[in-house]
Amino acid sequence: MPRWRNWAGTVTAKPQQLLQPRSIAELQGIVQNASAGQCIRMAGSGHSFTAVVPSNDILLLPHDFGDGVGIDTQRMIARIPAGMVLHDVNEHLAAANMALANMGDITTQTMAGSISTSTHGTGLGFTGLAGQVAGFGLVTADGNHLDCTPHENCEVFALGRVALGCLGILTYVDMHIVPAFRLRAVEEPRRLSDVLDNFDDITATSDHFEFYWVPHTRWALTKHNTRTSEAAQPRTPLSKWWGKSVMENYAFGAVCVAGRAMPSMIPRLATALPSQGRQEFVEQSHQVFATRRLVKFHEMEYSIPREHLVSALTQIIEAVNREKLKISFPVEVRVTGSDDVALSTSYGRQSAYIAVHMFKGMAYERYFRLVESIVAPLDGRPHWGKIHFQGAKTLQSRYEHFGRFSALRERLDPERRFANEYVNRVLIA
Ligand SMILES: Cc1cc2nc3c(=O)[nH]c(=O)nc-3n(C[C@H](O)[C@H](O)[C@H](O)COP(=O)(O)OP(=O)(O)OC[C@H]3O[C@@H](n4cnc5c(N)ncnc54)[C@H](O)[C@@H]3O)c2cc1C
Repeated sequence: MPRWRNWAGTVTAKPQQLLQPRSIAELQGIVQNASAGQCIRMAGSGHSFTAVVPSNDILLLPHDFGDGVGIDTQRMIARIPAGMVLHDVNEHLAAANMALANMGDITTQTMAGSISTSTHGTGLGFTGLAGQVAGFGLVTADGNHLDCTPHENCEVFALGRVALGCLGILTYVDMHIVPAFRLRAVEEPRRLSDVLDNFDDITATSDHFEFYWVPHTRWALTKHNTRTSEAAQPRTPLSKWWGKSVMENYAFGAVCVAGRAMPSMIPRLATALPSQGRQEFVEQSHQVFATRRLVKFHEMEYSIPREHLVSALTQIIEAVNREKLKISFPVEVRVTGSDDVALSTSYGRQSAYIAVHMFKGMAYERYFRLVESIVAPLDGRPHWGKIHFQGAKTLQSRYEHFGRFSALRERLDPERRFANEYVNRVLIA
């Protein structure tokens, strides 16, 4: 029996059939010929931590359908195969001197997988990836292929940009694009109190700002990326390799392994957490936004209204100290602007995101539940692809169009061909 597992190794599936359709027609055939009651799910790159992908019946693997990326420079829209990974998307766009306006911190996800769980980066003047979608193609439960834009199948477009794979299977995604741009990156440790005292100002005046609070210390590692027309001042290959591969992955991984073996050492190890001090460089946007992540971990991330960030993080720090938790992974904070995507974690409000991580092999539930008890009551919306303990009963009140989404799901997929246990948990109240 074929097997599938996610990147973190936390979710596995043994579907009866593991198929990789290589064209839209083949995909339609699989959906039309599936037996009644069989569940069909499409995987992306498996970078979700939740069980948002699996099917025990038919699990489909992504393929780029060999279509390449179609770039319309008049409308500034790129047609991207749903199964193409973001790294390849960036390469295609860069070759045409174009780029995505904003993205998250890795590029190994697929185009469809990343929008389906509301993947985001940082920057109050920007949205997550789903907010940059101009249209998409969708194979529905009856095997039809719908083109969905604000003008055609507009209800499906309005509700389907973040859909956890349960309205149908995306075949292409049209993304709004921008001319290629460079970012001046400044990465430096700063006093956490300094960052929190100035958080509103920094995020209001920065293009892309994020920070990582290092538990057991008063320090934050900050990343400040500013759009610039300056000439490139790239890192040397050696300094990039040293910073991103050695320090952020191998040395950091070694610190995590040591902390897992001796948790009581974690606070002392935290003070030596690898940091290169201040780094500054100017590179193309996609080279700055994304990094490699070789260290495996568990993650929970919540979106909360931006104005609650300082109070929420302060409470989390107090709780971690009070409960004497030993945390070797920094806590990540980002922000995004409001968008109009029904199930986006930033729908209708500027959001701050707090992401907590635990090194693979270490117990995470007590920590994550503690943090969730602080952020969930603040109108907190969990990342659909990251660990959380909520269900539809609590989530429905956090999304204005939750009921409208359920009605569309009922109309497009009355037999729940595209459902699995996780999506039922979070979507059926
Ligand atoms: C190391 C790491 C770093 C990360 N960084 C970020 C970050 O910076 N910001 C952030 O917000 N998130 C981040 N994430 C989370 C990640 O972006 C999301 O979980 C994303 O959904 C993963 O994309 P994927 O291609 O792996 O999709 P998968 O996890 O494989 O699938 C996600 C969902 O998409 C659906 N899907 C996939 N393809 C299709 C299709 N063709 N049609 C319909 N549905 C489809 C699946 O069924 C599933 O419901 C990170 C995760 C990891 C492991």
